[in-house]
Amino acid sequence: MSQLLHRAASTARIAAIRSSLSLLGLRGVRQLARGSMDHVGMILMFHHVAPPRSGRLSINRGLEVTPETLDRVVSSLMAQDYDIVPMDAVPERLAQASAGRRRFAALTFDDGCRDTLLHAAPVLVRHGVPFTIYVTTGFASGHVAPWWHVVERAALAATSLTVETNAGRQWFDTASPFKKKRAAEALQGILWRACEPMRAQQTAALAAQAGLDLHALTRELYMDWRELVEIAALPGCAIGAHTESHARLADLDEAAVMQEIGEPRDVIRKRLGIEARHFSYPYGVAGACEQREFTLARTAGFATAVTTRRGVLTQTDIAGLTSLPRVPINGHYQRQAMIDALVCGLPMVLAAQTRALLGAMRDGARHQRTLQTDRAAISSRRQFHSPERL
Ligand SMILES: [Zn+2]
Repeated sequence: MSQLLHRAASTARIAAIRSSLSLLGLRGVRQLARGSMDHVGMILMFHHVAPPRSGRLSINRGLEVTPETLDRVVSSLMAQDYDIVPMDAVPERLAQASAGRRRFAALTFDDGCRDTLLHAAPVLVRHGVPFTIYVTTGFASGHVAPWWHVVERAALAATSLTVETNAGRQWFDTASPFKKKRAAEALQGILWRACEPMRAQQTAALAAQAGLDLHALTRELYMDWRELVEIAALPGCAIGAHTESHARLADLDEAAVMQEIGEPRDVIRKRLGIEARHFSYPYGVAGACEQREFTLARTAGFATAVTTRRGVLTQTDIAGLTSLPRVPINGHYQRQAMIDALVCGLPMVLAAQTRALLGAMRDGARHQRTLQTDRAAISSRRQFHSPERL
C-alpha cells in the first residue's frame, strides 16, 4: 500500500511539475532562472533516445526521450548561449569559471545503448557537438543483462511471474495490461533493493519464466564492440567507462569496486584503442556510490566521474571532479518549456530552494522541539529546585 501511495504521489508530482513548467513558458523560465543561481555549467544525462514505441509498459519511460527532444535540448542550449564542450574540457572550464564567462554544457549518454548510435548520433553529428558515451563493457560483450528491461519484457510476455526474495517466494499476476504494469513496478522495486548475486539470479529466473533470451535482449538494446568502433569514429564522440557489470558499487568490497572501475578501461583500450578518461557510476544516487567510490575513481586515474545526483555545476565542483552532479533529461518532461527550464537549471534551483526551505522548517521544528524540551527541563528543574519546595 505504501508503494502505491508513493507511486501516486510520484505521478502527481510529475504532473504538477509538468503543468507548472508548461505554464511558465520560455520567457518566464528565463526570468526566473536569470540571476537566481551561480551555476557555471551543466552535464546533461541521457539514456535511451528513440522514437515512441508501442506495446511497452511505461515503467522505463523516464529513461527514454525521442530524437526530437534531443534535438530540442541541443537547440535550446545553443539558443541560451551555452558552449557545448567535451567532458575533457570540464575540469579546465570549472577551474577558469568566472562571472560573465559563457556557461558550458556537456552531453553524456549512459550504458552504451544501441539507440545512441541509431537515433542520437545523427542529431549530435548534425549539430556538430561533442558527446560522451559511458559504456558498460558487460553489455557490449553481451554477457550482462539489464534487469530493469528484463522485468518489463517478462511482465509483458508472461501471464504470471514468481520471484525469490529474502522474505520468501512472491507471486505476481501478469494476465492483464493493468496487472502487468503493477507487477512490473513491484518487481522493479524488489530487484532494485536486492544485492548481487541475488539480483542476477532473480533476473535469470524471470527471463526463464517468460521465455526471454537474455543475450538477444542485450544485443537488441546495447551496442556491441563493432557498433562501438563505429560510433567512436564519429566526430566529437568520446568513450567513457560505466563498469563491467553495471553493479551498485557501494554494495561491493573495495577490491571488487576497483575491478569494476578499472577493468573496463583496459577492455575499452584493447577493443577500441581508446583511453577512457571519464567514468559514470551505475545508478549514481546516494547509497549507490559514496566517498569511497569517489576516491577510488580518482585513484584509478579518471579525470572526471559523474553521478546521477541532480544539480548544475558551480565553481566549487572543481574540488569534486569524481562526484559531479548532472541534469537528467527525463522522458516524463519532453515539452519545449520543460526543456528550456531544464537547460536553465531551473528545476535544480527550485529543488535546492525547496531543500533549503525544508531544511529551515526542519531546523525550525527541531528548534521548537529543543525550546519545548528546554522549557520542560527548565520547568522540571524549577519544580525540582523550586524554593517553594525546598
Ligand atoms: Zn547505467
